[in-house]
Amino acid sequence: MSKRIKKIGVLTSGGDSPGMNAAIRSVVRACAYYNVECVGIYRGYQGMIEGDFENMGPRSVNNIVNKGGTILKSARSKDFMTPEGRAKAHENLVEYGVNALVVIGGDGSFTGAEVFNKEYKFPVIGIPGTIDNDIFGTSHTLGFDTALNTVVEAIDKIRDTASSHNRLFLVEVMGRDAGHIALNAGIGAGAEEILIPEEDLGLERLLESLRKSKLSGKSSSIVVIAEGDKIGKNVFELKDYIEENQPEYDIRVSVLGHMQRGGSPSCFDRVLASRLGVKAVESILEGKSNYMVGMLNDKVCLTPLDQAIKGHSQIDQELLRVSDIMTT
Ligand code: ATP
Repeated sequence: MSKRIKKIGVLTSGGDSPGMNAAIRSVVRACAYYNVECVGIYRGYQGMIEGDFENMGPRSVNNIVNKGGTILKSARSKDFMTPEGRAKAHENLVEYGVNALVVIGGDGSFTGAEVFNKEYKFPVIGIPGTIDNDIFGTSHTLGFDTALNTVVEAIDKIRDTASSHNRLFLVEVMGRDAGHIALNAGIGAGAEEILIPEEDLGLERLLESLRKSKLSGKSSSIVVIAEGDKIGKNVFELKDYIEENQPEYDIRVSVLGHMQRGGSPSCFDRVLASRLGVKAVESILEGKSNYMVGMLNDKVCLTPLDQAIKGHSQIDQELLRVSDIMTT
């Protein structure tokens, strides 16, 4: 165990995701287990700049493993993008006796952690917390599994009403740059078509697919669309376009929005958070820095932060193929 590390700070940054609380709990309890002090930093990097710190012991994280959101609150901090902001943050950490940081967030938060590490040689370890699952070096980010379950449950309900009225539903899900939620939830919910940012399906193919689906006897359809799909039309423009070209369809739009970020984390996310939190603390105590802890082939592993940031997880071609076959 490294002698230097006496106090570890933990913060959540960027968009919140279900499982962040379970990760905070895991970091706090792992610190207690290894007799290291733990400090919760509120509102991400902004709280670091403002010195919004609180000592945390194992009992301060009771009853949060099942809670969505983050008890430490999250923020996007413009001040941390400036050298002056980071200098103030560093000053506060030194004053509070914090020797290392666990940052729970997405690639933006990891970029901030990396910059901070470079400037001050401050030990940092990242835990991937974002529902989009767009981070290289882990098969799952915290919150992705819960978000999928939320989306599938919502689409199941939409399907009930779609089939009662012979309607076509366009369901927009989160994923500006990554289609993992749309593709996985689309397959899970039995969508007729799935539009994602990584693949250019094309409007003609979509219309053709809807035509075929109608001819094959389907009376209602669900199309799942990621926010950032390649077709380049927003979901309402897409509705107008389909109505113009296939007036026989009675189309409704449902934008699932922020409900996808909320809710009690799934068991998968709670277990993942617990494993990653322990590994984050153990890695710091082994003297490691500038890594992200993740899960690959059900093994907890470390990926250099810069690779995690730049890499972006690729869309699974096998899933695309399965999705094509399922829409036959
Ligand atoms: P999500 O995936 O939900 O968007 P994220 O972690 O990618 O989460 P961002 O808003 O991109 O969210 O980043 C969170 C914070 O990280 C920013 O508000 C900023 O404080 C810090 N940050 C991001 N990029 C940098 C950078 N280049 N330098 C310093 N800090 C940064």
